[in-house]
Amino acid sequence: MRPDAGGNAMSDYDYIVIGAGSAGAAVAARLSEHPRRSVLLLEAGAADHPWTRIPAGVARLITNPAANWLYAGEPEPATKGRAVPVPRGKLLGGSSAINGMAFVRGQARDFDTWAQLGNRGWSHAEVLPFFKKIERYDGGEDEFRGRTGPLRVTDPPPALPLLAALIEAAGQRGIPHNPDYNGASQDGIAMSQASIARGRRVSTARAYLDPARGRANLRILTGALTEALTFEGARCTGVRYRRAGATEQARAGREVILCGGTINSPQLLELSGIGQPDRLAALGIAVRHALPGVGENLQDHYAPRTRWAIGAAGASLNDRRRGVKLVAEALRYALGRPSLLGMVAAPLRAFVRSREGLDGPDALLGWVPMLTEAGPRGPRLAAASGMTCYAHPMRPESRGSVHATAADPARPPAIRFNFLSAPEDGTVTAAAVRIARTIMAAPAMARFALRELAPGPEAVTDDAILDWVRGAAETTYHPVGTCKMGVDPMAVVDPRLRVHGLAGLRVADASIMPRLTSGNTNAPSIMIGEKAAAMIAEDAA
Ligand SMILES: Cc1cc2nc3c(=O)[nH]c(=O)nc-3n(C[C@H](O)[C@H](O)[C@H](O)COP(=O)(O)OP(=O)(O)OC[C@H]3O[C@@H](n4cnc5c(N)ncnc54)[C@H](O)[C@@H]3O)c2cc1C
Repeated sequence: MRPDAGGNAMSDYDYIVIGAGSAGAAVAARLSEHPRRSVLLLEAGAADHPWTRIPAGVARLITNPAANWLYAGEPEPATKGRAVPVPRGKLLGGSSAINGMAFVRGQARDFDTWAQLGNRGWSHAEVLPFFKKIERYDGGEDEFRGRTGPLRVTDPPPALPLLAALIEAAGQRGIPHNPDYNGASQDGIAMSQASIARGRRVSTARAYLDPARGRANLRILTGALTEALTFEGARCTGVRYRRAGATEQARAGREVILCGGTINSPQLLELSGIGQPDRLAALGIAVRHALPGVGENLQDHYAPRTRWAIGAAGASLNDRRRGVKLVAEALRYALGRPSLLGMVAAPLRAFVRSREGLDGPDALLGWVPMLTEAGPRGPRLAAASGMTCYAHPMRPESRGSVHATAADPARPPAIRFNFLSAPEDGTVTAAAVRIARTIMAAPAMARFALRELAPGPEAVTDDAILDWVRGAAETTYHPVGTCKMGVDPMAVVDPRLRVHGLAGLRVADASIMPRLTSGNTNAPSIMIGEKAAAMIAEDAA
């Protein structure tokens, strides 16, 4: 390290990766596999947090400032003025270190649609090798699944009779059991595949960074908040970051890869003068490069949680929240047996059609075999026995935005979702809630003596269901799309993830998704990191 002309500490690398999340950890680990490439990985958050190891720790991370940016959406009509939480991981592993650990790739059509929008190289056939490269999975068919990747994916058993009964109930409603929704078809109901191995969460910090840490050509800096990208003309040449109270700079001889996630990546582009000129001028930021799409195209899964009381004793995890039963759970966990402490956050999911005539699922139901309530350190098990089922459109049409609110990197950006602004999102949401009800009312569920608590049986019409949704729904924490990949004027990056109109700068994270995938977004984000690293290596050759 040497001082630059301004006296700041300075150092040189071939590649600088900003953000060690789902995508960034994969990018940095893959790039540094080649010993002659030097890589700096900058992470704003900490190296780790003790609650990231135990899957049940998710409840202690979702409102925890030591591991989470704790953003919130702007109040809007579709939330009845509530600011919905937008948790984002802030530590090595990023959101993969605080997420619900469900492993869902999406449908082939998601990626084929990306390709049809002009993104050459992103069809399902072309991204499948990267999905396979991520994972080490024991089940499924080899044509679709990976056996030798760094990230362990497992099939937790239906540890509760309640979950097995729900699979049977769905069958009674014509929704088949699908043992591998990440295989040939997503259709049907299944236990969630999980990024959990031997009872431990497998974040990208564990899967990608732990094995790479010892490499002499990879430097990982935590507590390093990148404040701006630096440029020579139209070429990005490095970054300025803040660490331990000091401002430092690093130079990238080849490229800077921005992997800050859907909220932070557009903010950092704007702070660096890249975005909508009027917006930047209003914040007093000098315009370096006009790019109108920066921060637009925000999408997320707005997901109401239907709540059910369970009359049958012992069926729900609420019945194991204290005393002997909790000790038994802890013991089971310690012995490596299925336990509440080692469970994926939503262990059962169904990919369903909201109406007849569709050629594939367009809505998702996810079951959590407990009722929770807000506690002082995050959500906690409620005293009443019950379960939760969230229900939402998988490919919403509503679009929002994320924009910087000040030139100061420490000020949170404004997140505007515009939920339900596309009427079809409301139609599919109401239909999904009704499908949840029909499954709960199927004969296989009779012995559990279920009673609908929310929205409540009186909410019959779309209007009544959506009125409840506006007052109660939160997201399933899948924001994407704010640095859209494409070839149209609103695209921020091209199909090789290079920022349009600039050199030496790519974005590789969930923000580049032109459209939200059908399901959870960790696996697609890691795939984007894997594919970015491959493209960077190809372009450097
Ligand atoms: C509570 C929660 C539950 C979820 N559950 C699931 C689930 O069960 N299954 C699933 O598939 N998906 C789930 N997701 C979504 C999934 O985890 C994310 O979509 C995915 O991790 C996004 O990856 P990313 O690389 O785009 O961003 P992230 O993983 O969020 O990584 C961004 C990283 O960049 C760092 N960073 C940002 N700005 C800067 C800066 N200026 N300087 C330095 N570093 C910076 C951040 O600290 C972070 O580490 C969940 C997410 C959350 C938050």
